[in-house]
Amino acid sequence: MSGQSFDLVVLGGGSGGLAACFRAASHGARVAMLEPALLGGTCVNVGCVPKKAMWLAADLVERIALASALGFDVPAAPRLSWPRLLQRRQQYIDGIHASYRQRLQDSGVVHIAQRGRLRDARTVECEDGTRLHAGHIVIATGSHALKPDLPGAGLGGVSDDFFALQAAPARVAIVGGGYIAVELAGVLHGLGSEVTLLVRGKELLSQFDAEMTAQLAQNLRQQGITVRFECQLQALERRAGGIHARLQGGAADALFDTVLFATGRAPSTRGLGLETAGVALDDNGAIVVDAFQNTSVPGISAIGDVTAQAMLTPVAVAAARRLMDRLYGGQPEARLDYDNIPSVVFSHPPLGSVGLSEAQARGRFDTVTTYHSRFRPMLQALGEGQTRSLFKMVCAGADEKVVGIHLLGEGADEILQGFAVALKAGVTRRQMADTVAIHPTSAEEVVLMR
Ligand code: FAD
Repeated sequence: MSGQSFDLVVLGGGSGGLAACFRAASHGARVAMLEPALLGGTCVNVGCVPKKAMWLAADLVERIALASALGFDVPAAPRLSWPRLLQRRQQYIDGIHASYRQRLQDSGVVHIAQRGRLRDARTVECEDGTRLHAGHIVIATGSHALKPDLPGAGLGGVSDDFFALQAAPARVAIVGGGYIAVELAGVLHGLGSEVTLLVRGKELLSQFDAEMTAQLAQNLRQQGITVRFECQLQALERRAGGIHARLQGGAADALFDTVLFATGRAPSTRGLGLETAGVALDDNGAIVVDAFQNTSVPGISAIGDVTAQAMLTPVAVAAARRLMDRLYGGQPEARLDYDNIPSVVFSHPPLGSVGLSEAQARGRFDTVTTYHSRFRPMLQALGEGQTRSLFKMVCAGADEKVVGIHLLGEGADEILQGFAVALKAGVTRRQMADTVAIHPTSAEEVVLMR
């Protein structure tokens, strides 16, 4: 293979890298992909997919309780077999790996199971020294979880370690207030752990609408999760009864069986030879790209988490596809519009959001109006569950263009996608209100908000 030439060489076979390979190959490009680890990267192996599997299992716990309240004959304490759950999770992931392998083969993409590094703007070197000449290079090497720099940090794990758990630990501390922290807290609580969330700031999910995140924090507490705001972890120490967490900020010190850090992720750029090729990084170590995913070096692009732009799988995929349409598909203007990207936090119930928070809208527009709906979904009401939903719409200008939709409640993850289309298309409050509701659903509340 040494000296072999390709139209495109992609570093990384995660969400972005694979999407780039498949789309480029569909346009007729000769493609090589370097991926030393499992196909699918973070999302498939230690991210979205196993996370959602665990979320679904935790969600069932609440539904089993509701079923019991509705009259189903359910044991008082239904037991979960973690090994069985993990086996089903792995089978699902194995299926994705098999499907990727098949697609790589069918599309003629050459998969090289090695790390790659740049020798120059047109040459990638594999670990075994093989050199590949490339018409274009795409860097899609993703990101990795960080641990804070504090004494005893080695006693704690990160989200990757959560996926290796073989049972729910009795007492868990999760450090962080972002979406991964919230999601891990909800799943572990649902599956039987006593969970404490240690948040450095005054609120959860600082990028989200504050009214929604306040309700989210209230939900977590109501469910029995301990949420400590303005609480700084200072050190971890192994003691006889578990891991001791030394805290600053008024909170009592505590002992845990497991501590997980969800305190941020860093772009994976080490050892890529970026300095050799002259690819510029920002202050946080992310690859700097323009609106067309071009790096500072002609012929080298970057997509996905390594650029730190909206670190989500569909964003990496969409950026990759547009880039390939531009490079090989005759669409010179193709690029991803990074505005109004919908996202969901898989809490229990989930929080979905697209567009601006109320505070962001007030910072941008003179006239801002908001609409709300607080309600108890029917299954909760029937089953005497306590969980309520909060939906919020943020509108701007005299014509009340919808600039933000925020949904916290059962089904929010599934409801949001369609309304994200409407928001991106420029829907107004009037048009929403003119749309006939679907009854009885939670979704109807989006068009009935007052
Ligand atoms: P990755 O998927 O991380 O792929 C990068 C690949 O590059 C890896 O496979 C790595 O082995 C490879 N690589 C690294 N260095 C080299 C090298 N030198 N040569 C060759 N290959 C290399 N997003 C969502 O949209 N929804 C969710 O629900 C969601 N949940 C998440 C939950 C967790 C716990 C985490 C951690 C992330 C979650 N994400 C979610 C984010 C999502 O996983 C990432 O945004 C997405 O995987 C980014 O894709 P990527 O292609 O940029 O990187």
